[in-house]
Order: sequence, then C-alpha cells, then structure tokens
Amino acid sequence: MFTIKYSDENRIFNIHTEGIPYISFDMLDELGVPNLFTTRYISYDADTGIGEKGLRLAVMKTETVEEASPVCRRNRDVLAHQLGSSLSMECITDQKHTNYVHVASKDDLGIPTVGNFALHRHYVDGVVTDMPGVVLTVFGGDCPPVYIVDPVRKAIGLVHAGWRGTLGRIPEVAIANMVVRFGSDPGDMYAAIGPGICRDCYEMGDEVYDAFAEQWSKTEADMILSRYPAFNADGTEIPAGKYHLDLREANKMTLLRAGIPEDHIAISNICTKCNADIFYSYRSHRMENEQAAMLVNRW
Ligand SMILES: [Zn+2]
Repeated sequence: MFTIKYSDENRIFNIHTEGIPYISFDMLDELGVPNLFTTRYISYDADTGIGEKGLRLAVMKTETVEEASPVCRRNRDVLAHQLGSSLSMECITDQKHTNYVHVASKDDLGIPTVGNFALHRHYVDGVVTDMPGVVLTVFGGDCPPVYIVDPVRKAIGLVHAGWRGTLGRIPEVAIANMVVRFGSDPGDMYAAIGPGICRDCYEMGDEVYDAFAEQWSKTEADMILSRYPAFNADGTEIPAGKYHLDLREANKMTLLRAGIPEDHIAISNICTKCNADIFYSYRSHRMENEQAAMLVNRW
C-alpha cells in the first residue's frame, strides 16, 4: 500500500487500488453511497508496490482544453464506472471560489465540460441532486471537498470548500438547498469533510482573519485562525508570524450550525500538502493537477 500520513489515531478511510486508485470514507461506505477522493496515481500494483503517477482529471490553466479534455474525461469516466455510474451522468462545477450551489437538472448531465477553468454555464462551487444515479464531481488540490448525504430523501450534495467558500459557508448553502428542494431534514443528514490542507500548512494573511472576524464573529475567527508562536534559539519570542487557518474546524462549525448532528460528521485528517508525494497540492506544486472528489446518488 502506498502510505498516506494522517494526523491522529483515527483512520476513517479505505484505499482502493483496483483500476484508478482512490480512497473512500468509512462513514459514507457504511451508508452505502459510492464515494471517492483520488490521488496522483493512475494505477498501483498492490503486489509489487509499484505505481504509475500523473493522473489527470481537471483541465488546468496551463493546458489547452482541446488537448487535455479527452484525457481528463476518459479518466473521470473510468472512475465513474468504478462507482457504478458513468460520465454521462456526471454534473460538475466550474469552481470560482464562490459559495454558490446549483441544483442539478437533466440538462447538466454529461455535458462536454472539463471542470476547472473550462467552459461551463454555471458559476458555482457546489451541486446538489436527488436524481438517481447522478455523479457529482468537484476538484481540489488543497481545498477540501465536503460530501453531504441524506439517506432518508436519497439526495446528495458536494461542495468545494477553499477559504472563500468556507468563509461563505458553502456547506450550509448546499444543505439549505437540499432542505428547500428535496424536503431534507438536517438531523437526518451526514457529512464528510475530505482531504485538504492542514492548519499547520495553511498560512494566511491578516485580511483572511479580518474577513472571518467580520462575516462570522471574532470568537469564531479566534477558534479557526491563530498565529503560531515562534522562538529564537536563545528563547526570545519572534514577533508573531502569519495566521494559520483550520479549514476542517471551520467547515465542521458550519455543518453543526446547519443542524447536522456531530456524530453524523466525519473529518478527514489527511493533509494534501503533508502528503504531496501522494496527492496534488497547490501550495506545493501550484497548477500541476488536482484530485477529484466524486459522490454518486445510488444507495
Ligand atoms: Zn499539512
């Protein structure tokens, strides 16, 4: 097995190495909803421990859509089939770091777009659906996805929660859409916060603290953003450096605020930057590529 570092005792994921490798989350697996988060690997032989890296799923700014799109779409189709669906049932977003969430319609499925930075008519960072068999996909290369499922109404949501989407409480926007459109009750819903950059790795400027203190509250900002103390060799304190943002804690606070019970929330402790050999990490390698998070409305 390729070794993924995670930050405490709780291993809440499984590694799958058949076909294109991916990880899935125990809580979502137990609910019976197909889910995945990819790695750098195109393939991995569990017997020899030899894998091929370089998986391409999202068209990057540095690539031409015409050249990259067929490769990315083919890989996503393989993944969709591994989850029991196909690309013809996929709905993706264009991901502009908004907190906008779209309710998928039949017209959104399988259209020849390629995710980030490509043509798409929706200016959104999250999608929800109650249509059976639909695959929701978002991309991330440090920004965690948040998977939301309602096993009672058989509806799902998936959002891209970078710092701006987190600030805009995008998981709560998705949940609100599911309540209004599908009749979901947040008390029935489950959520998993997927892999993303950890607090230690995520340095932010003062303006990010100010934004959270203004739009959330100073108390909340102090819970999710802190300056780490630093000391010289002689023990004297170095003036405080940059803030560090905890996206996991911030999104957990939003999920609780939206009414999801605490024991229905799973939080990945996998950092994409701490594991930059296994995962694409924007803070490590900029625009190299990104992981896909996928969730299928099949139970
Ligand atoms: Zn880290």
